[in-house]
Amino acid sequence: MAGPELRTVLARIEAAERLYGRQPASVSLLAVSKGQPPAVIREIAAAGQSAFGENYLQEAQPKMAALADLNLSWHFIGRIQRNKTREIARSFDWVQTLDRLDIAQRLCDQRPADRPALQCLLEVNVSGEASKGGILPTALPSFAAAVRALPRLQLRGLMCLPAPSVDFVGQRRAFASLRQALDELGDPSLDVLSMGTSADFEAAIAEGATIVRVGTAIFGARS
Ligand SMILES: *Cc1c(COP(=O)(O)O)cnc(C)c1O
Repeated sequence: MAGPELRTVLARIEAAERLYGRQPASVSLLAVSKGQPPAVIREIAAAGQSAFGENYLQEAQPKMAALADLNLSWHFIGRIQRNKTREIARSFDWVQTLDRLDIAQRLCDQRPADRPALQCLLEVNVSGEASKGGILPTALPSFAAAVRALPRLQLRGLMCLPAPSVDFVGQRRAFASLRQALDELGDPSLDVLSMGTSADFEAAIAEGATIVRVGTAIFGARS
């Protein structure tokens, strides 16, 4: 039963909006359902949650099929392999982890004509870790311009998954740099900042998150 945990997370989001002077309901919750079976997702959906995030295509597809009777939106938040783009473009409503132009081009070409444009976020490497995915902030303007030219993708904003930081000040610093990167793009049509997980979503809200991606605080630890 993850319903009470869902309500607790929603209450924490509301409290953070108030504390940091954000508009009421300006932060939406993406429930990260990787590792969770369809029955558990169905419970959370029954409690009112409609947006879910998945990291692995093979895991997500059977769950989406099992829940096709519900009106849910699905966000891809994992690494995108080249040979998976066709199915990702078919199955998902959002892709939050774009960081390569060849992948963006394929998703555009492969987005089915009968579906709306794929909603996209660019993943930004804000902590400068060489091992991490994501675009470096300096490369962002030209990358964003190239993605904007792809007609079947709708660029909506930026996403990050910074290295974990235990102190609130350090958490805020990483999220502030994503907000600054969005500001520097200077495009008011980009209105989405996806940042913050179970460990740090309040810091992300303090710095302007519009989507927080929360798994374990709702569902418990993944096995
Ligand atoms: C797993 C995951 C999350 C959720 O993390 P929790 O610690 O379970 O809240 C958020 N974003 C991404 C990209 C993830 O892979």
